Amino acid sequence: MKLFTMKFGGTSVGSPEAMAQVVEIVKGDVDAGHGVIVVVSAMSGVTDSLIDAARKAASGNKWGYLSTAETLRERHTEALEQLTDEGEDRDRTLAQVNALIDDFVNVCNAINILGELTPRMMDAIVSFGERLSSRVIAAAMRAQGVQSRQYDASQFIVTDDHYQSANPLWADTESNIRNHLLPVLEEGITPIITGFIGQTQDGVMTTLGRGGSDYSGAIFAAASDSDELIIWTDVDGVMTTDPRIDKRARVLPYVSYNEVGELAFYGAKVLHPKTVQPILDKKIPMRVRNTFNPTFEGTLIGPASTPSATVIKAVTAVRNVGLLTVSGRGMIGVPGIAGRAFLTTAKAGANILMISQASSEQSFCFVVMDDRSSKVKAAIEQEFVQEIAQRNIDQIELLEDVVILTVVGSGMRGTPGIAGRVFNTMGAHDINVVAIAQGASECSISFVIDEINLERAVIALHELALEAVAVV
Ligand code: ADP
Ligand code: ASP
Ligand code: MG
Repeated sequence: MKLFTMKFGGTSVGSPEAMAQVVEIVKGDVDAGHGVIVVVSAMSGVTDSLIDAARKAASGNKWGYLSTAETLRERHTEALEQLTDEGEDRDRTLAQVNALIDDFVNVCNAINILGELTPRMMDAIVSFGERLSSRVIAAAMRAQGVQSRQYDASQFIVTDDHYQSANPLWADTESNIRNHLLPVLEEGITPIITGFIGQTQDGVMTTLGRGGSDYSGAIFAAASDSDELIIWTDVDGVMTTDPRIDKRARVLPYVSYNEVGELAFYGAKVLHPKTVQPILDKKIPMRVRNTFNPTFEGTLIGPASTPSATVIKAVTAVRNVGLLTVSGRGMIGVPGIAGRAFLTTAKAGANILMISQASSEQSFCFVVMDDRSSKVKAAIEQEFVQEIAQRNIDQIELLEDVVILTVVGSGMRGTPGIAGRVFNTMGAHDINVVAIAQGASECSISFVIDEINLERAVIALHELALEAVAVV
């Protein structure tokens, strides 16, 4: 008997038909005698609609959030009615769905009265999506004879109070899962758990960040010592590029933890960037599989790095970023300028996605998300106000409407000529490269180009990932 942790994403639980598919997949493994921990997302589109409703509440649009509440009620009721039989279990679950929706309206009313929306309130609001879907799915499982019970992950995952992107406190979380969840499995019950959410030590609801249910799945897999973590989604696996940009995208049969970490960090939406962290040390294998094509084995993700014949395995892009450049003759030989700039950036609440330094030491540049870039620019100008006045540092430059492109492949380490191939390809397509960086794990190269060239560049680089060409 094996223990699997399976996470099902938004599309995989987005309709009664999709939920029925989820039940079938889980039931197959349970009937075969395996233990399954099921982690689920909100139904597709629900998290976005909750965020929208909260904003409407803050701006006084009461009709807006009441109409969201009704849509949520209809969608979950319809799924429940299609997937369960009339009777006590359906009635009890329906009452839970209605009570959650009433709670949601109450929180919106409070936001409406206060006229402000804090990150803490936003987490309380978005938590309803997973709390609703998980209850409906648990009932659907029981209707098909799978003994299952719904759990809010906030009972297990303890986090800090970094709302909207909370960090799990590992020791508490692991002991909760071991002491309170594993006994449930031993009783032969299949737990259906909300993805995405956690709770502070004081009992306040938090979330792990958008797309965070993948991370929840990995946390449960690691703490329970699962034999495998399976991320069930709406594509056949991790692909050579975003299939929405290039239809020729192919499924990668195997990628390493490192490679997938780089892919996710640099924009491949298929996995949350933190997903591999909890499973790294225990070397728990992970698979990305398609709920709607369940016989296909998907992509296996593990510790070994196995270079492919193409060396470059995949291409990704991050949109909506800004490139900041700090330059000036007075910087040469002056220690600590970069350190101060990065510290200031962190204090302005921005994460640095990429850093590049010119060898002349006269300038360095780095990339942050667009929504923070002006704030970071102002904060750095403030930090270096004296240096700028003395002309040791020039005005800080902010370049918007740029994107980061990343090529990933573990074979890049020690394969000469890869960077040359990448930049020759850009040159051949007349695409100007603004800044370049090599990932610390040496399995990626990232660079910045103008946003208008994004699709052309991805398609051109994707050729390199599709064709095995001898590198000289
Ligand atoms: P889920 O709701 O299951 O978590 P997401 O929408 O978050 O699913 O992620 C899956 C989507 O990620 C796919 O539908 C696909 O369009 C997109 N995607 C982007 N880049 C890649 C890639 N390299 N490989 C696979 N899918 C990708
Ligand atoms: N429902 C959350 C979101 O849409 C978490 C997830 O699905 O992973 O961001
Ligand atoms: Mg996702």
